[in-house]
Amino acid sequence: MSQSIFDQMKDMGHEQVVFCHDPHSGLNAIIAIHNTTLGPALGGTRLWNYNTHEEGIVDALRLSRGMTYKAAISSLNLGGGKAVIIANPAQKSEALWRRYGKFVNSLNGKYITAEDVNTSARDMEYIALETKHVTGVPEYMGGSGDPSPFTAYGVYIGMKASAKKAWGNDSLVGKKVLVQGCGHVGQYLVGHLVKEGAKVLVTDIDAAKIKQTVEAHRGVEVVDGKNLFDNEIDIYAPCALGATLNDESISKLKARVVAGAANNQLADENVHGPLLISKGILYAPDFLINAGGLINVAAELETYNAERVRGNVEKIYDRTLEIFALSEQENIHTQAAAMRIAEKRLADIAAVKARL
Ligand code: NAD
Repeated sequence: MSQSIFDQMKDMGHEQVVFCHDPHSGLNAIIAIHNTTLGPALGGTRLWNYNTHEEGIVDALRLSRGMTYKAAISSLNLGGGKAVIIANPAQKSEALWRRYGKFVNSLNGKYITAEDVNTSARDMEYIALETKHVTGVPEYMGGSGDPSPFTAYGVYIGMKASAKKAWGNDSLVGKKVLVQGCGHVGQYLVGHLVKEGAKVLVTDIDAAKIKQTVEAHRGVEVVDGKNLFDNEIDIYAPCALGATLNDESISKLKARVVAGAANNQLADENVHGPLLISKGILYAPDFLINAGGLINVAAELETYNAERVRGNVEKIYDRTLEIFALSEQENIHTQAAAMRIAEKRLADIAAVKARL
């Protein structure tokens, strides 16, 4: 990391970053609060075995910024935040989660947590023993459970809108879709795609996840992760980690559409957003189409109603088409178009709040 943490916070517009350490449970966590203009910062906790602490910091900063945009474009009254725990999944324990819950609680609701990669509704249950500032908790504790089905549904809806733009018809029947990452979201997404009649290719670094997916969905083809971008496909759906759209992958990518769940798919939005356009690849902005889970956990903070959540997730279809239209009209890449809409809402509400 060449820049200091404060320079990075300044460049990306962060309000607060909290470092949490507990020697007893082995907890090392970073809570990044990007922007609370619209409300408390809500975003999941990712548990990942980062190679260095710096990698974890960068991930927390990038992910929390994405959450600000996600909430803003989804008309939610929430700010952007995200946390990472630097650990191996085998290190998960009740003590680690409860200690982490105490740290979340110490922020008095400025940050509200939920699930992300390698964290589950069961883990949220432990956090909920120490703080009320947690969502995605199991139904039997009054929550709405795993948000992933709603995330996957939103991605599917956004993918259909992208198909409409790319091919003039939103049917995915016969379309070759490569799903990278068969975790919580990826598996539900595969379900929607198979049901509609798409030809689904899957890959994952975890053989158990591949097995689960293949057993649950007939006709799914497994592809090797090594030469992933050599596959002739119509749609690439990144559903693992971020930054898979980079110089190397884009130079090989043979898809017309990219629409997936992963956060921060563009390694560098200023470089790779325009690069995708120049290659004729339509990119559905990640924070726009993967907002279903956030829309769902946000509803947990009010009177939860799954049908209303579903209706709100379906709004992703029209919003995606609006973003594509704005991108064409203003001659900007699609991520920039989505950011412009989100930034306008943030500026408008900041101005409202500044007045008596
Ligand atoms: P998950 O941990 O359940 O699944 C991720 C999967 O990706 C795992 O099966 C993992 O083995 C696989 N994976 C990791 N690296 C890989 C690689 N290089 N190639 C292939 N597979 C790889 O996580 P999830 O909840 O399904 O989330 C997936 C992505 O979607 C993440 O980027 C997450 O931030 C994002 N997202 C999730 C939600 C949600 O509701 N869960 C909401 C919005 C965004």
